[in-house]
Amino acid sequence: MLTEILSREECARCRICCCFDSYDIWEAPVISDELSRKILHDINPKQEFVPKGSSYVMKMQKEQDEDLYYCSVLDHSKGCLLGTEKPFDCSIWPLRVMRFEGKRVIALSPVCPALMKKPVGDVVNIAKKLSEKIFSEANKNPDLVKNYEVGYIILVIEE
Ligand code: SF4
Ligand code: SF4
Repeated sequence: MLTEILSREECARCRICCCFDSYDIWEAPVISDELSRKILHDINPKQEFVPKGSSYVMKMQKEQDEDLYYCSVLDHSKGCLLGTEKPFDCSIWPLRVMRFEGKRVIALSPVCPALMKKPVGDVVNIAKKLSEKIFSEANKNPDLVKNYEVGYIILVIEE
């Protein structure tokens, strides 16, 4: 969704957003029931899921001797095995829909090195452009709305 502002080349050089540590594992993508069935059917019949509201998150294996969890559907050479059917969370990354002081906001994760270097005005504009779609998706699935975390940059506040 962010291809207007984030190129494939920038992501190919980075690839940090498909792995987590114990501090940001809460960022693991929310998986719908339908997508969980697809993962079980097409990718890994043994994949385990943890309920999150009426959705799920995938159980991920911790790397040996490292505080690191690679996403279970990440292939280190091919990339995300879900292709164009990525979870909504991943399709808007590094934007997040969050709950802040009783309102929903769209915030930017400080983790993405590429977007942090773009002009702030361009990032705000893209967040505004996508806001209707993002809030509408959050209406359909409130599990997508995460609690605000210090450091995330609020770009849009829902009216
Ligand atoms: S952190 Fe940002 S630049 Fe890096 S792979 Fe993810 S979206 Fe692309
Ligand atoms: S679902 Fe795909 S894009 Fe999302 S974190 Fe996992 S590998 Fe990355």
